[in-house]
Amino acid sequence: MAEFGQAFTTQMVVSNFQDNHWTAPEVKPIGPFSFHPGTHVLHYSSTCFEGLKAYRWTDGSIHLFRYQDNIRRLRNSAAALCLPVPSDELLEASIFAAVKAVVSEIPDLPGALYIRPTLIGTELNIGAAGRGSKEALLYVITSPVGDYFAGGIRPLKLLIDDENMRSTPKFGQVKTGGNYAASLGSVTQARAEFGADQVLFCPGGQVQETGAANFILLKGNEVITKKLDGSILPGITRDSILKLAAEQGYQIKEIDYTVDELLAWLPESEAFLSGTAAVLSPVGSLIYHGKEYLLGDGKIGEKSVQLKAKLTGIQTGKNNDTYRWTT
Ligand code: PMP
Repeated sequence: MAEFGQAFTTQMVVSNFQDNHWTAPEVKPIGPFSFHPGTHVLHYSSTCFEGLKAYRWTDGSIHLFRYQDNIRRLRNSAAALCLPVPSDELLEASIFAAVKAVVSEIPDLPGALYIRPTLIGTELNIGAAGRGSKEALLYVITSPVGDYFAGGIRPLKLLIDDENMRSTPKFGQVKTGGNYAASLGSVTQARAEFGADQVLFCPGGQVQETGAANFILLKGNEVITKKLDGSILPGITRDSILKLAAEQGYQIKEIDYTVDELLAWLPESEAFLSGTAAVLSPVGSLIYHGKEYLLGDGKIGEKSVQLKAKLTGIQTGKNNDTYRWTT
């Protein structure tokens, strides 16, 4: 299978906001858009997006996971970027239409259909640095996917970056291209210099999250992760894992903690990245100021594997969906 995010299905769904109203979502063959070079998004990054998955269960039926939460987050992102905010109904109709249009292209398990609703500011205006785009395009594209990290399930190596921020304090919760652009330099350097898979952003020595997933620690009976304060993305996978872990008897600690505390906890801990794409990807080691620190024995932890099975069991219809997360 192609690298994550490089294969696309044949159809997309588009809707335009013009003269203060949204056009009905339209299914079209996937293909290029044409934009005037003075379009708002091309200059002022008026763009936000979502990432969610649909799964083909073994009986052939197709199920979305917690899509209402992605809709809520996209609406929050749109408002933060002063873009026209699509209604719940429009977003639901667009996502459903995008999935239905490509049902025959959805891979079997363990693959899935990754769904990328995207909203961009299309007003023709390069003088509008100080206000939001009054026109917008909403589109939903989809991509058949397998594993996010090349090489399948293996313990990941993260570089701790205590200098750079991926976002400003209150904008980390917004799923906007600018936050990803801001993390690229650090992640690219971490790969090239240290062979790291990702960067754990810890500005000022405070642990936050990685460039594309939340960071969660299992220490004894505790699940430790950064509290939601606007500086990190409120992950839907993170929330799901915290709920499932609480049900298993873990004590949930959503707190602020430092790199020094994290390093002290490592020998007795497991850690993983959590996200729609990453699912639950175990971390084997952290590199900090040139030195590598192992999580436990550096291998994939048993407790992480168990939690992952709980989550994917619900997503794929093997476990009872007591939270009614699937549609
Ligand atoms: N943090 C960042 C920066 C992300 O890009 C993602 C992926 N959307 C996440 C966390 C995890 O969010 P979710 O579990 O909702 O996919």
